[in-house]
Amino acid sequence: MHRPALGCRALSDDLTDRPRRGPGRLSPAARLAARLAPLRAWSPAPVPRASLWLHGVAALGIVAEPQHWPQMLAVLAGNHAVLGALMHPRSTQLGPNLVALPGTMGKAVALTFDDGPDPEVTPRVLDLLDRHGATASFFVIGRKAARHGALLREIGRRGHTIENHSYHHAKSFACRGPWALRREVVLTQRAVAEATGVAPRFFRAPMGLRSPLLDPVLALEGLQLVSWTRRGYDGRGDDPGRVLDRLTRGLAARDILLLHDGTPGTRPRGEAAVLAVLPPLLARCAAAGLRVGSLAPVAARASPAAAAGR
Ligand SMILES: [Zn+2]
Repeated sequence: MHRPALGCRALSDDLTDRPRRGPGRLSPAARLAARLAPLRAWSPAPVPRASLWLHGVAALGIVAEPQHWPQMLAVLAGNHAVLGALMHPRSTQLGPNLVALPGTMGKAVALTFDDGPDPEVTPRVLDLLDRHGATASFFVIGRKAARHGALLREIGRRGHTIENHSYHHAKSFACRGPWALRREVVLTQRAVAEATGVAPRFFRAPMGLRSPLLDPVLALEGLQLVSWTRRGYDGRGDDPGRVLDRLTRGLAARDILLLHDGTPGTRPRGEAAVLAVLPPLLARCAAAGLRVGSLAPVAARASPAAAAGR
């Protein structure tokens, strides 16, 4: 089994630490960090606004003329079909969604990792990033974050940001109701704040599929939705060369790149694809004159208007 590389030694005793509190209780430091994440002003985007209006009209119509309920339900079914088609990862129709860096960031690309932290892969990713002088944003799964607090602190200590990728990473995430969505988001905010003292500023949905109900939930936590410009599909066990090709074909300033440091599928032959892809990816970015960094500068100047994508 891989041993954590130099720089991660201090983690080895703590990589399997367990949550000291239940997911519903917060330390004073975590409560403070959660407060530091400001509420984001929210109003529905035009499509969800029209959908809410349509639901209201249909409800009134059924009350006023009950004999027309089949037609009303057909209209609502059509509305839900439209909403379903707009749930794809890069959709900006259901609310703000960062699909590329803002134009003010010049020749920069953002590197993001999903599904960690993983006590074997993440420390090696951190070492590779150190070697190339790059930073990144790690979108962690809350239940893993709650088990690996020391690893989270090490990610932060090395200058990277830790973001929210839901608590359970359920395939059904996008189909859940608003209270279930909020629980997934809040538990992860708490797990990260509990371990690091800093609450995430960005959220990425499992599989990237966004619910029409997600935006107000994120606004309550001061979170901004992020998808990606290019992804390598490294979680499918593909050849690293193909993963690298997907990420670098057409690579340009302001791209947000997605890799995985914590998906079991990344290790088809005992080695995570990300470990083979990262060095040549960082080298190609350097050769193209592109700075590789985290989403921290976006958080610093975040506004809902800036989040609407290119
Ligand atoms: Zn994921």
